[in-house]
Amino acid sequence: MESLTFLDEHHKTIQLSIFMGVFLVCLNIEYFFGVTEKSLKFKNFRTNLLFIIPGFIFQTLLGFIFMDVLVFENIHNYGFLHYIGITSVVAQLIISFVFLDFFYWLYHFLMHKIAIVWRFHAVHHSDKILNVSTSLREHPMETTIRLSHYMLAVWFLGPFVWIISLHQFVQVVSKIIIHSNWRLPDKIDKYISYLILTPNMHHVHHHEKQPYTDSNYGDLFSVWDRLFGTFYYLSKEDVVFGLDVKEFENINSQNLRFKNLMKIPFKNHLSNK
Ligand SMILES: [Zn+2]
Ligand SMILES: [Zn+2]
Repeated sequence: MESLTFLDEHHKTIQLSIFMGVFLVCLNIEYFFGVTEKSLKFKNFRTNLLFIIPGFIFQTLLGFIFMDVLVFENIHNYGFLHYIGITSVVAQLIISFVFLDFFYWLYHFLMHKIAIVWRFHAVHHSDKILNVSTSLREHPMETTIRLSHYMLAVWFLGPFVWIISLHQFVQVVSKIIIHSNWRLPDKIDKYISYLILTPNMHHVHHHEKQPYTDSNYGDLFSVWDRLFGTFYYLSKEDVVFGLDVKEFENINSQNLRFKNLMKIPFKNHLSNK
């Protein structure tokens, strides 16, 4: 009982410590086993770390509304899961993870296919060196779109609050791992990637050329990409990170600093070809 109370009181600190731990472990693995030579360029790392500031502000602002509405739903038994009478913890957990994962796949697919939102998502794809810090590189406008999309899906379902906390926790851990610069051995990846997303799969998504940029949209599970025919595979020698679009030709890595990355969606009409 005492340990449960401890977990309850310190869950935010514990979560943050685990994120930091996973981040540091992946940082070390990519340092020693990275697929890109010199995967840790300080300038690039520093630029990506700055995204924590707007990310934190936008997530905190939206987070309050998000949790308040979900708690309200829980108290009054609103939401689709309650409507159809699913109150079992296990059933709610499985349905929520599968449903939210599909919604993420759809969100990511649309971010690539709708020109006006692709401009913001392109900031994430513009990283020429994929490493753990790329997991933080998200334009604040994309953070707003992503969380709004997520909130709508969660409110529709109305699951227990702790399920959403767990889902968000797993999402962050997965995001750090899939962006890190190391790969699983191909033989192991072949089996694991039947179920969950791996760094190998997400590296292909960050390849500079089509059709690979528009592939492997998954978040946690790989089933949606296999189901909708967007699963692609490339060996590590064939992956070149970044975006091969004409609008990026004149933007050298020097200019891809935080300030300029913020402005890119408003300045360039980015194509996804
Ligand atoms: Zn993408
Ligand atoms: Zn990514």
